[in-house]
Amino acid sequence: MKAFIETYGCAQNESDSEKLRGMLKNLGYTFCDDVKSADLAIYNTCAVREGAELRVLGNIGALKNEKTKRPDMLIGICGCMMQQEHIAEEIRQKYRHVDFVFGTHALYRFPEILQKAQHERVFDLETDEEIVEGTPVLRDPPPLAKVPIMYGCNNFCAYCVVPYVRGRERSRKPEDILTEIRQLVADGYKEVTLLGQNVNSYTADGVTFPQLLTEVCKIDGLLRVRFVTSHPKDISDELIEVIARENKICKHLHLPIQAGSDKVLADMNRGYTAEKYLAIIKKLREKVPQITFTSDIIVGFPTEDNSEFEETLKVLREAEFDMIFSFIFSPRKGTPAENMESVLTDEEKHANFEKMLELQNEISKRKADAYVGTVQQVLIEGKSKNNEQFMSGRTDGAKIVIFEAGEDMIGEIVNVKITRATTWTLYGEVLR
Ligand code: SAH
Ligand code: SF4
Repeated sequence: MKAFIETYGCAQNESDSEKLRGMLKNLGYTFCDDVKSADLAIYNTCAVREGAELRVLGNIGALKNEKTKRPDMLIGICGCMMQQEHIAEEIRQKYRHVDFVFGTHALYRFPEILQKAQHERVFDLETDEEIVEGTPVLRDPPPLAKVPIMYGCNNFCAYCVVPYVRGRERSRKPEDILTEIRQLVADGYKEVTLLGQNVNSYTADGVTFPQLLTEVCKIDGLLRVRFVTSHPKDISDELIEVIARENKICKHLHLPIQAGSDKVLADMNRGYTAEKYLAIIKKLREKVPQITFTSDIIVGFPTEDNSEFEETLKVLREAEFDMIFSFIFSPRKGTPAENMESVLTDEEKHANFEKMLELQNEISKRKADAYVGTVQQVLIEGKSKNNEQFMSGRTDGAKIVIFEAGEDMIGEIVNVKITRATTWTLYGEVLR
Protein backbone atom coordinates (compact mmCIF):
# COMPACT_ATOMS: atom_id res chain seq x y z
CA MET A 1 0.00 0.00 0.00
CA LYS A 2 1.34 3.40 -0.98
CA ALA A 3 0.70 6.71 0.79
CA PHE A 4 1.09 10.23 -0.52
CA ILE A 5 1.38 13.06 2.03
CA GLU A 6 1.35 16.73 1.14
CA THR A 7 2.31 19.20 3.86
CA TYR A 8 1.51 22.92 3.91
CA GLY A 9 2.71 25.59 6.33
CA CYS A 10 5.20 25.65 9.15
CA ALA A 11 7.78 23.34 10.71
CA GLN A 12 5.18 22.14 13.23
CA ASN A 13 3.10 20.75 10.37
CA GLU A 14 6.18 19.11 8.85
CA SER A 15 6.81 17.54 12.22
CA ASP A 16 3.20 16.31 12.40
CA SER A 17 3.63 14.78 8.94
CA GLU A 18 6.68 12.89 10.21
CA LYS A 19 4.35 11.37 12.80
CA LEU A 20 1.79 10.47 10.14
CA ARG A 21 4.60 8.75 8.22
CA GLY A 22 5.74 6.95 11.37
CA MET A 23 2.24 5.61 12.03
CA LEU A 24 1.76 4.64 8.38
CA LYS A 25 5.09 2.83 8.25
CA ASN A 26 4.00 0.78 11.26
CA LEU A 27 0.83 -0.11 9.36
CA GLY A 28 2.94 -1.41 6.48
CA TYR A 29 2.65 1.53 4.10
CA THR A 30 5.39 2.76 1.76
CA PHE A 31 5.46 6.30 0.38
CA CYS A 32 5.19 7.85 -3.06
CA ASP A 33 5.52 11.35 -4.54
CA ASP A 34 2.71 11.06 -7.05
CA VAL A 35 -0.87 11.11 -5.87
CA LYS A 36 -1.91 9.15 -8.99
CA SER A 37 -0.10 6.04 -7.77
CA ALA A 38 -1.24 6.41 -4.14
CA ASP A 39 -3.74 4.18 -2.32
CA LEU A 40 -3.98 6.84 0.37
CA ALA A 41 -3.61 10.62 -0.01
CA ILE A 42 -3.37 12.94 2.99
CA TYR A 43 -3.26 16.72 2.94
CA ASN A 44 -1.83 18.26 6.11
CA THR A 45 -3.12 21.81 5.93
CA CYS A 46 -2.24 25.35 7.07
CA ALA A 47 -4.78 28.04 8.01
CA VAL A 48 -2.48 31.00 8.61
CA ARG A 49 -3.28 32.77 5.32
CA GLU A 50 -6.04 32.49 2.76
CA GLY A 51 -3.58 31.69 -0.05
CA ALA A 52 -2.55 28.37 1.54
CA GLU A 53 -6.20 27.45 2.12
CA LEU A 54 -7.17 28.11 -1.48
CA ARG A 55 -4.30 25.96 -2.73
CA VAL A 56 -5.42 23.04 -0.55
CA LEU A 57 -9.04 23.34 -1.67
CA GLY A 58 -7.92 23.54 -5.32
CA ASN A 59 -5.75 20.43 -5.03
CA ILE A 60 -8.44 18.46 -3.23
CA GLY A 61 -11.07 19.51 -5.74
CA ALA A 62 -8.79 18.26 -8.53
CA LEU A 63 -8.71 14.80 -6.93
CA LYS A 64 -12.38 14.19 -7.63
CA ASN A 65 -11.70 12.53 -11.00
CA GLU A 66 -9.02 10.30 -9.53
CA LYS A 67 -11.45 9.13 -6.86
CA THR A 68 -14.13 8.38 -9.50
CA LYS A 69 -11.58 6.31 -11.45
CA ARG A 70 -10.28 4.55 -8.34
CA PRO A 71 -13.04 4.45 -5.71
CA ASP A 72 -10.88 2.33 -3.37
CA MET A 73 -8.41 5.14 -2.98
CA LEU A 74 -8.74 6.90 0.41
CA ILE A 75 -8.47 10.69 0.68
CA GLY A 76 -7.97 12.49 3.98
CA ILE A 77 -7.42 16.06 5.16
CA CYS A 78 -5.91 17.03 8.49
CA GLY A 79 -4.20 19.92 10.25
CA CYS A 80 -5.03 23.51 11.11
CA MET A 81 -7.61 24.23 8.40
CA MET A 82 -9.79 21.37 9.59
CA GLN A 83 -9.88 22.86 13.08
CA GLN A 84 -12.00 25.71 11.66
CA GLU A 85 -15.66 24.74 11.73
CA HIS A 86 -16.68 26.55 8.57
CA ILE A 87 -14.01 24.77 6.51
CA ALA A 88 -14.73 21.32 7.94
CA GLU A 89 -18.39 21.96 7.11
CA GLU A 90 -17.51 22.95 3.56
CA ILE A 91 -15.58 19.70 3.12
CA ARG A 92 -18.50 17.73 4.56
CA GLN A 93 -21.02 19.28 2.18
CA LYS A 94 -19.10 20.03 -1.01
CA TYR A 95 -16.12 17.67 -1.12
CA ARG A 96 -17.96 14.37 -0.92
CA HIS A 97 -14.95 12.48 -2.32
CA VAL A 98 -12.99 13.16 0.88
CA ASP A 99 -13.14 10.08 3.11
CA PHE A 100 -11.81 11.37 6.40
CA VAL A 101 -11.00 14.61 8.16
CA PHE A 102 -9.21 15.20 11.45
CA GLY A 103 -7.86 18.21 13.29
CA THR A 104 -4.58 19.01 15.02
CA HIS A 105 -5.72 17.43 18.31
CA ALA A 106 -6.56 14.03 16.83
CA LEU A 107 -3.19 13.32 15.22
CA TYR A 108 -2.33 10.44 17.52
CA ARG A 109 -5.70 8.80 16.78
CA PHE A 110 -4.85 8.60 13.09
CA PRO A 111 -4.55 4.75 12.92
CA GLU A 112 -8.10 4.36 14.34
CA ILE A 113 -9.42 7.08 12.05
CA LEU A 114 -7.88 5.38 9.03
CA GLN A 115 -9.34 2.04 9.96
CA LYS A 116 -12.83 3.50 10.45
CA ALA A 117 -12.52 5.35 7.14
CA GLN A 118 -12.42 2.02 5.27
CA HIS A 119 -16.16 1.67 6.06
CA GLU A 120 -17.58 5.15 6.68
CA ARG A 121 -16.83 8.85 6.36
CA VAL A 122 -14.98 10.08 9.46
CA PHE A 123 -14.81 13.60 10.93
CA ASP A 124 -12.71 13.74 14.12
CA LEU A 125 -12.62 17.39 15.18
CA GLU A 126 -12.32 16.94 18.94
CA THR A 127 -10.44 19.67 20.78
CA ASP A 128 -8.91 17.77 23.71
CA GLU A 129 -5.54 19.36 24.29
CA GLU A 130 -3.64 16.39 25.62
CA ILE A 131 -0.01 15.78 24.86
CA VAL A 132 0.30 12.16 23.83
CA GLU A 133 3.84 10.78 23.94
CA GLY A 134 5.13 7.76 22.08
CA THR A 135 3.64 8.37 18.62
CA PRO A 136 6.07 6.82 16.11
CA VAL A 137 8.00 9.29 13.95
CA LEU A 138 9.55 8.70 10.54
CA ARG A 139 12.06 11.48 9.91
CA ASP A 140 14.32 12.36 7.02
CA PRO A 141 17.68 10.63 7.44
CA PRO A 142 20.34 12.40 9.61
CA PRO A 143 21.82 14.87 10.32
CA LEU A 144 18.86 17.24 11.05
CA ALA A 145 15.87 16.53 13.29
CA LYS A 146 12.89 18.60 14.37
CA VAL A 147 11.68 18.10 17.93
CA PRO A 148 8.44 19.77 19.08
CA ILE A 149 8.74 20.89 22.69
CA MET A 150 5.50 22.83 23.12
CA TYR A 151 2.21 23.13 21.30
CA GLY A 152 -0.39 25.87 20.93
CA CYS A 153 -0.36 29.59 21.64
CA ASN A 154 -1.87 31.92 24.25
CA ASN A 155 -0.99 35.22 22.63
CA PHE A 156 -3.98 35.93 20.41
CA CYS A 157 -2.30 38.37 18.07
CA ALA A 158 -5.23 40.18 16.45
CA TYR A 159 -4.55 38.79 12.95
CA CYS A 160 -3.68 35.19 13.82
CA VAL A 161 -5.70 31.99 13.68
CA VAL A 162 -3.10 29.79 15.42
CA PRO A 163 -4.51 30.02 18.99
CA TYR A 164 -7.92 28.93 17.64
CA VAL A 165 -6.68 25.97 15.59
CA ARG A 166 -3.82 24.75 17.79
CA GLY A 167 -5.31 25.48 21.22
CA ARG A 168 -3.65 26.70 24.43
CA GLU A 169 0.05 26.51 25.19
CA ARG A 170 1.19 23.21 26.62
CA SER A 171 4.75 21.98 27.03
CA ARG A 172 6.19 18.48 26.87
CA LYS A 173 7.93 17.17 29.96
CA PRO A 174 11.67 17.87 29.92
CA GLU A 175 12.50 14.19 30.45
CA ASP A 176 10.45 13.16 27.40
CA ILE A 177 12.24 15.74 25.26
CA LEU A 178 15.71 14.81 26.52
CA THR A 179 15.06 11.08 26.05
CA GLU A 180 13.92 11.70 22.47
CA ILE A 181 17.00 13.79 21.66
CA ARG A 182 19.37 11.24 23.24
CA GLN A 183 17.82 8.58 21.02
CA LEU A 184 18.13 10.84 17.96
CA VAL A 185 21.84 11.29 18.66
CA ALA A 186 22.22 7.51 19.04
CA ASP A 187 20.54 7.21 15.61
CA GLY A 188 23.11 9.55 14.04
CA TYR A 189 21.36 12.95 14.18
CA LYS A 190 23.70 15.89 14.83
CA GLU A 191 21.48 18.97 14.91
CA VAL A 192 18.07 19.41 16.53
CA THR A 193 15.61 22.24 16.02
CA LEU A 194 13.29 22.64 19.00
CA LEU A 195 9.83 23.65 17.81
CA GLY A 196 7.00 25.66 19.29
CA GLN A 197 4.68 28.48 18.21
CA ASN A 198 6.28 30.42 21.08
CA VAL A 199 9.17 28.16 21.77
CA ASN A 200 10.68 30.47 24.37
CA SER A 201 7.57 30.44 26.56
CA TYR A 202 8.23 26.74 27.14
CA THR A 203 7.72 25.69 30.75
CA ALA A 204 7.03 22.29 32.31
CA ASP A 205 7.70 20.70 35.70
CA GLY A 206 9.30 23.97 36.87
CA VAL A 207 11.83 23.85 34.00
CA THR A 208 12.08 27.05 31.94
CA PHE A 209 13.22 27.33 28.33
CA PRO A 210 16.78 28.48 29.16
CA GLN A 211 17.07 25.60 31.63
CA LEU A 212 15.83 23.11 29.03
CA LEU A 213 18.34 24.45 26.49
CA THR A 214 21.14 24.01 29.01
CA GLU A 215 20.16 20.38 29.57
CA VAL A 216 19.84 19.69 25.82
CA CYS A 217 23.35 21.08 25.26
CA LYS A 218 24.74 18.55 27.76
CA ILE A 219 23.85 15.65 25.46
CA ASP A 220 27.09 14.11 24.17
CA GLY A 221 27.39 13.75 20.42
CA LEU A 222 24.82 16.46 19.68
CA LEU A 223 26.60 19.18 17.71
CA ARG A 224 24.02 21.93 17.23
CA VAL A 225 20.79 23.22 18.71
CA ARG A 226 18.37 25.63 17.04
CA PHE A 227 14.88 26.73 18.08
CA VAL A 228 11.86 28.40 16.41
CA THR A 229 9.81 30.54 16.78
CA SER A 230 10.76 32.95 19.54
CA HIS A 231 8.43 35.71 20.68
CA PRO A 232 10.12 39.02 21.55
CA LYS A 233 8.11 39.40 24.76
CA ASP A 234 9.70 36.23 26.16
CA ILE A 235 13.38 36.92 25.40
CA SER A 236 14.69 36.98 28.97
CA ASP A 237 18.17 37.98 30.13
CA GLU A 238 18.59 34.39 31.25
CA LEU A 239 17.91 33.20 27.69
CA ILE A 240 20.42 35.69 26.28
CA GLU A 241 23.03 34.40 28.75
CA VAL A 242 22.42 30.80 27.70
CA ILE A 243 22.66 31.64 23.98
CA ALA A 244 25.96 33.42 24.66
CA ARG A 245 27.33 30.68 26.91
CA GLU A 246 26.44 27.44 25.13
CA ASN A 247 28.63 26.66 22.12
CA LYS A 248 26.11 24.20 20.73
CA ILE A 249 23.38 26.82 20.43
CA CYS A 250 23.50 28.27 16.93
CA LYS A 251 24.00 32.01 16.90
CA HIS A 252 20.86 32.79 14.95
CA LEU A 253 17.50 33.96 16.17
CA HIS A 254 14.27 34.02 14.19
CA LEU A 255 12.44 36.82 15.95
CA PRO A 256 9.27 38.04 14.23
CA ILE A 257 8.64 41.76 14.68
CA GLN A 258 5.57 41.93 12.36
CA ALA A 259 5.46 45.76 12.13
CA GLY A 260 7.54 48.82 12.92
CA SER A 261 4.88 51.19 14.22
CA ASP A 262 4.05 51.10 17.93
CA LYS A 263 0.42 51.87 17.21
CA VAL A 264 0.13 48.96 14.77
CA LEU A 265 2.03 46.67 17.15
CA ALA A 266 -0.46 47.58 19.90
CA ASP A 267 -3.41 47.00 17.54
CA MET A 268 -1.86 43.64 16.68
CA ASN A 269 -1.66 42.84 20.41
CA ARG A 270 2.04 41.96 20.15
CA GLY A 271 3.04 43.14 23.64
CA TYR A 272 6.19 45.14 22.75
CA THR A 273 7.21 48.38 21.05
CA ALA A 274 9.69 48.77 18.18
CA GLU A 275 12.11 50.35 20.63
CA LYS A 276 11.87 47.39 22.99
CA TYR A 277 12.39 44.99 20.08
CA LEU A 278 15.45 46.85 18.82
CA ALA A 279 16.84 46.94 22.37
CA ILE A 280 16.67 43.11 22.50
CA ILE A 281 18.59 42.88 19.24
CA LYS A 282 21.16 45.36 20.49
CA LYS A 283 21.66 43.50 23.74
CA LEU A 284 22.08 40.19 21.91
CA ARG A 285 24.59 41.72 19.49
CA GLU A 286 26.58 43.07 22.42
CA LYS A 287 26.72 39.69 24.17
CA VAL A 288 26.98 37.54 21.02
CA PRO A 289 28.68 39.67 18.33
CA GLN A 290 28.37 37.09 15.53
CA ILE A 291 24.61 36.52 16.02
CA THR A 292 22.31 36.83 12.99
CA PHE A 293 18.61 37.64 12.93
CA THR A 294 15.71 36.80 10.65
CA SER A 295 12.15 38.03 11.07
CA ASP A 296 8.52 37.94 9.92
CA ILE A 297 6.70 41.07 8.72
CA ILE A 298 3.05 41.65 7.91
CA VAL A 299 2.30 44.48 5.49
CA GLY A 300 -1.18 45.99 5.35
CA PHE A 301 -2.60 45.21 8.78
CA PRO A 302 -5.98 47.01 8.61
CA THR A 303 -5.03 49.93 10.87
CA GLU A 304 -1.64 50.53 9.17
CA ASP A 305 -1.39 53.73 7.12
CA ASN A 306 1.47 54.78 4.83
CA SER A 307 3.42 56.66 7.48
CA GLU A 308 3.16 53.69 9.86
CA PHE A 309 4.35 51.42 7.08
CA GLU A 310 7.37 53.72 6.66
CA GLU A 311 8.22 52.93 10.28
CA THR A 312 8.53 49.26 9.33
CA LEU A 313 11.11 50.26 6.70
CA LYS A 314 12.94 52.27 9.32
CA VAL A 315 13.12 49.24 11.60
CA LEU A 316 14.36 47.05 8.75
CA ARG A 317 17.19 49.51 8.11
CA GLU A 318 18.10 49.53 11.76
CA ALA A 319 17.71 45.83 12.58
CA GLU A 320 19.55 44.62 9.46
CA PHE A 321 18.01 41.17 9.30
CA ASP A 322 19.81 38.59 7.16
CA MET A 323 16.40 37.68 5.76
CA ILE A 324 12.70 38.27 6.35
CA PHE A 325 9.56 36.28 5.64
CA SER A 326 7.02 38.85 4.57
CA PHE A 327 3.29 38.58 4.11
CA ILE A 328 0.40 40.77 3.08
CA PHE A 329 -2.27 40.74 5.79
CA SER A 330 -4.88 38.08 5.16
CA PRO A 331 -8.16 38.35 7.13
CA ARG A 332 -8.80 35.17 9.14
CA LYS A 333 -12.26 34.09 10.27
CA GLY A 334 -12.90 34.47 13.99
CA THR A 335 -9.89 36.71 14.69
CA PRO A 336 -10.29 40.29 16.02
CA ALA A 337 -8.77 41.72 12.80
CA GLU A 338 -11.17 39.83 10.53
CA ASN A 339 -13.68 42.62 10.17
CA MET A 340 -11.48 45.65 10.76
CA GLU A 341 -11.74 48.16 7.98
CA SER A 342 -8.50 48.72 6.06
CA VAL A 343 -7.00 52.20 5.89
CA LEU A 344 -5.12 51.35 2.67
CA THR A 345 -6.39 49.88 -0.58
CA ASP A 346 -5.08 46.53 -1.86
CA GLU A 347 -3.05 48.36 -4.50
CA GLU A 348 -1.40 50.52 -1.85
CA LYS A 349 -0.63 47.44 0.26
CA HIS A 350 0.96 45.68 -2.71
CA ALA A 351 3.01 48.75 -3.56
CA ASN A 352 4.26 48.92 0.04
CA PHE A 353 5.03 45.22 -0.03
CA GLU A 354 7.17 45.63 -3.16
CA LYS A 355 8.94 48.61 -1.65
CA MET A 356 9.77 46.58 1.43
CA LEU A 357 11.09 43.62 -0.59
CA GLU A 358 13.32 45.95 -2.54
CA LEU A 359 14.81 47.43 0.63
CA GLN A 360 15.26 44.04 2.30
CA ASN A 361 16.90 42.53 -0.82
CA GLU A 362 19.41 45.35 -0.71
CA ILE A 363 20.12 44.72 2.99
CA SER A 364 20.27 40.93 2.53
CA LYS A 365 22.70 41.24 -0.39
CA ARG A 366 24.93 43.61 1.57
CA LYS A 367 24.91 41.23 4.55
CA ALA A 368 25.64 38.23 2.31
CA ASP A 369 28.54 40.05 0.60
CA ALA A 370 30.12 40.70 3.98
CA TYR A 371 30.64 36.92 4.41
CA VAL A 372 32.97 36.76 1.41
CA GLY A 373 36.53 36.13 2.61
CA THR A 374 35.42 34.87 6.04
CA VAL A 375 35.70 31.30 7.30
CA GLN A 376 32.41 29.81 8.49
CA GLN A 377 31.68 26.64 10.41
CA VAL A 378 29.21 24.68 8.31
CA LEU A 379 27.34 21.52 9.21
CA ILE A 380 27.10 19.46 6.02
CA GLU A 381 23.45 18.58 5.52
CA GLY A 382 23.48 16.71 2.21
CA LYS A 383 23.60 17.16 -1.54
CA SER A 384 22.64 20.54 -2.92
CA LYS A 385 19.10 20.46 -4.32
CA ASN A 386 20.05 22.41 -7.42
CA ASN A 387 23.28 20.62 -8.28
CA GLU A 388 23.96 17.14 -6.93
CA GLN A 389 27.70 17.52 -7.47
CA PHE A 390 27.82 19.97 -4.60
CA MET A 391 27.05 19.71 -0.91
CA SER A 392 24.88 22.07 1.06
CA GLY A 393 24.97 23.07 4.67
CA ARG A 394 24.31 25.98 6.97
CA THR A 395 26.54 28.30 8.93
CA ASP A 396 25.99 28.70 12.64
CA GLY A 397 24.09 31.87 11.67
CA ALA A 398 21.77 29.85 9.38
CA LYS A 399 23.10 31.03 5.98
CA ILE A 400 23.03 28.33 3.30
CA VAL A 401 26.45 27.47 1.88
CA ILE A 402 27.22 25.41 -1.25
CA PHE A 403 30.62 23.74 -1.65
CA GLU A 404 32.41 20.58 -2.78
CA ALA A 405 32.81 17.74 -0.27
CA GLY A 406 32.50 13.98 -0.06
CA GLU A 407 29.18 12.36 0.74
CA ASP A 408 30.88 10.59 3.62
CA MET A 409 31.22 13.99 5.29
CA ILE A 410 27.46 14.52 5.74
CA GLY A 411 26.81 15.40 9.39
CA GLU A 412 30.28 16.83 10.01
CA ILE A 413 31.04 20.44 10.85
CA VAL A 414 33.74 21.80 8.54
CA ASN A 415 35.46 25.15 8.07
CA VAL A 416 34.42 26.71 4.80
CA LYS A 417 36.09 29.74 3.28
CA ILE A 418 33.40 31.84 1.61
CA THR A 419 34.39 32.84 -1.92
CA ARG A 420 31.18 34.20 -3.41
CA ALA A 421 27.72 35.36 -2.32
CA THR A 422 24.31 35.81 -3.89
CA THR A 423 21.49 37.35 -1.87
CA TRP A 424 20.34 34.08 -0.27
CA THR A 425 23.24 31.67 -0.79
CA LEU A 426 26.96 31.60 -0.02
CA TYR A 427 29.53 29.57 -1.99
CA GLY A 428 32.89 28.40 -0.67
CA GLU A 429 35.71 25.91 -0.30
CA VAL A 430 36.29 23.49 2.54
CA LEU A 431 39.54 24.18 4.38
CA ARG A 432 41.45 21.02 5.23
N1 SAH B 1 4.18 31.65 16.24
C1 SAH B 1 4.94 32.33 15.30
C2 SAH B 1 4.45 32.20 13.88
C3 SAH B 1 3.02 32.20 13.57
S1 SAH B 1 2.50 32.11 11.90
C4 SAH B 1 5.04 33.77 15.76
O1 SAH B 1 4.42 34.16 16.69
O2 SAH B 1 5.79 34.52 15.20
C5 SAH B 1 3.87 32.63 10.94
C6 SAH B 1 3.81 34.03 10.44
O3 SAH B 1 2.70 34.19 9.59
C7 SAH B 1 3.63 35.08 11.50
O4 SAH B 1 4.83 35.42 12.12
C8 SAH B 1 3.05 36.23 10.71
O5 SAH B 1 4.05 37.05 10.18
C9 SAH B 1 2.32 35.55 9.57
N2 SAH B 1 0.87 35.63 9.74
C10 SAH B 1 0.11 35.11 10.73
N3 SAH B 1 -1.20 35.42 10.53
C11 SAH B 1 -1.26 36.16 9.39
C12 SAH B 1 -2.32 36.78 8.68
N4 SAH B 1 -3.58 36.73 9.10
N5 SAH B 1 -2.01 37.46 7.53
C13 SAH B 1 -0.74 37.53 7.11
N6 SAH B 1 0.30 36.97 7.75
C14 SAH B 1 0.05 36.28 8.88
FE1 SF4 C 1 -0.03 33.68 16.03
FE2 SF4 C 1 0.82 35.62 17.64
FE3 SF4 C 1 0.59 33.11 18.57
FE4 SF4 C 1 2.51 33.71 16.80
S1 SF4 C 1 2.30 34.56 18.89
S2 SF4 C 1 1.15 31.93 16.75
S3 SF4 C 1 1.53 35.22 15.51
S4 SF4 C 1 -1.08 34.42 17.91
